[in-house]
Amino acid sequence: MRTSKWMVLALLVVMVTMIVTTAAVAQQSAPAPATQQPASAAPQSATAPEAQPPATASQPISATPAPPPPVAAPSTMDQVVDRVIEREKGLIKMMAPRTPVIETYVQNLTQDTQLGPVPSDDRYFLGRMDLTDSIDRDDYLKDKDPGMEKRMLGGFTKMFKFQYTPLGFSWMIYADRNDFDRQHYDFRYIRREFMGDVRTLVFDITPKKDAGRGRFLGRIWVEDQDFNIVRLNGTYTHPKRNTYYFHMDSWRLNLVPGWWVPTYIYSEEGDFTAGAKNKIAFKAQTRLWGYNLKTGAANDELTNIRVDSVKDETPSAQDASPLAAQREWQQQAEDNVLERLERSGLLAPEGELDKVLQTVVNNLQITNNIELPRPIRTRVLITSPLETFSVGNTIVISRGMIDVLPDEASLAAVLSHELAHIVLGHNLGSQYAFNDRMLFSDEGTYQNLGFKHIPEEEAAADKKAVEMLKNSPYAQKLDAAGLFIKVLQTRATQLAALLQAHLGNSIAENGTVTRMSQLATSAPALDWNKLDQIAALPLGGRVRLNAWDNKVEMVKAQPVAITSARDKMPFEVTPFFPRLTRFGANAPNGGPVPATTASSANATPSPTN
Ligand SMILES: [Zn+2]
Repeated sequence: MRTSKWMVLALLVVMVTMIVTTAAVAQQSAPAPATQQPASAAPQSATAPEAQPPATASQPISATPAPPPPVAAPSTMDQVVDRVIEREKGLIKMMAPRTPVIETYVQNLTQDTQLGPVPSDDRYFLGRMDLTDSIDRDDYLKDKDPGMEKRMLGGFTKMFKFQYTPLGFSWMIYADRNDFDRQHYDFRYIRREFMGDVRTLVFDITPKKDAGRGRFLGRIWVEDQDFNIVRLNGTYTHPKRNTYYFHMDSWRLNLVPGWWVPTYIYSEEGDFTAGAKNKIAFKAQTRLWGYNLKTGAANDELTNIRVDSVKDETPSAQDASPLAAQREWQQQAEDNVLERLERSGLLAPEGELDKVLQTVVNNLQITNNIELPRPIRTRVLITSPLETFSVGNTIVISRGMIDVLPDEASLAAVLSHELAHIVLGHNLGSQYAFNDRMLFSDEGTYQNLGFKHIPEEEAAADKKAVEMLKNSPYAQKLDAAGLFIKVLQTRATQLAALLQAHLGNSIAENGTVTRMSQLATSAPALDWNKLDQIAALPLGGRVRLNAWDNKVEMVKAQPVAITSARDKMPFEVTPFFPRLTRFGANAPNGGPVPATTASSANATPSPTN
């Protein structure tokens, strides 16, 4: 494989523009492959008819796409390649009407003599992808654009301005959206390989000589029943002047029968060996979810309504008393907000993980004799930034926050702050009981909802939270929570984007951790060389998200022994290695195996070329 130096690119399209160019203009001109390969080269024309989900004819977006119909097993490797191409085009078509949420989190790296490459700066992008025409995304964080214009990467910024174009990450879900075929690529069979529970065939893919710019160069893994691509690893060739393509490792999961949907992309650049000079050094995770959002809202409406909590809990046939009316009004506001956040793809549906969280809250409540008129609920915000907030009697905690917390006591510490707001009556938010306030576009969520408290309430909640913790079963285990605050403090300046809350109060202000900082004072010293001292975990280790239906669950991963301080990687992004399983195989994604699954016992061909 060619690895010439200029081809430093992979996952993201990084625009390097002369510093005189305004960032805004550069942003607009981000080259997507679609611009080089006009979208008018309609991909559907090449799609084999049997690969089209039949449901799309009558229903623009079916909640669950029909699986591909059974086809005779290919008998040669050439036929396998034909199937791979046909399935990829089928996927592109199936995905076209969908608008998944896409999140990209980038950590720029610098060398630390003790810890190796560590984050020096970070960036966060969140948007909805529109897969209909050219691949594009609408950002939730529209007003945060100044961040994107920030100059990056030390000395290089003297001449150039780097920009991570989120568009580039979106693009990397396919090898080639318009021209994935034999006219543009050579396919070379390499070997068979097990990926988790799934047998795959591995191919190296190289663009033909005159195939043009932005072509995929790398390797694909193809599952051996329907011949869907399950993993892509490589880069794109021949960037335009001043444009870079990063390397990518892109994974798909079998979340619906017959289809493997793009879920994770990891990218990394940088060389920290002696004498290497990095123009770019970063690692980044991109996650996609909410594929079934639009239809999900309509189809599940009748089953999702919480009849148990919305009303009719009072036995009396009387009008509500003033206080009861006030509470009902607040409940209405709370329900409106949660429903709206779930519909915009930011909040996971209620599930098993909430029971874990509720148990912790319960432990705090019982030991503090806290009785509330309504039970506390908990929900998971799907995004990565470390964030908690509460609305009415519901505590919301982000996936990223759950990921990095080292143990249950630190989880209790984080939840106790929000419980304190509820106990102290800080959560009014009744303006959201008016339904007109829920009528905004999904991308406007962060502009239209907000649950920030004034500093006095923050301080009061911290104080109350510490009191509650000291009465709780976690009282003797608060060292871990204190260490978590300490290690967070060591990274607070570098990880500003990760610590930026979008709906509630940030846990750090201007590089200083403010939330629950009292806990740090009694904690032991932070010691990187103590290998059994795990103050915080890397991102992505605890919560497993189903990208199709947004359900979350706890990961039951085996702990891996830490052998040096460099293994600790608190708050850091790492590559993805999902264990691949077929839909319904051991039901990690929920749902039984449908009887109609087409991926039955297709014999795999023998490698003939
Ligand atoms: Zn607070």
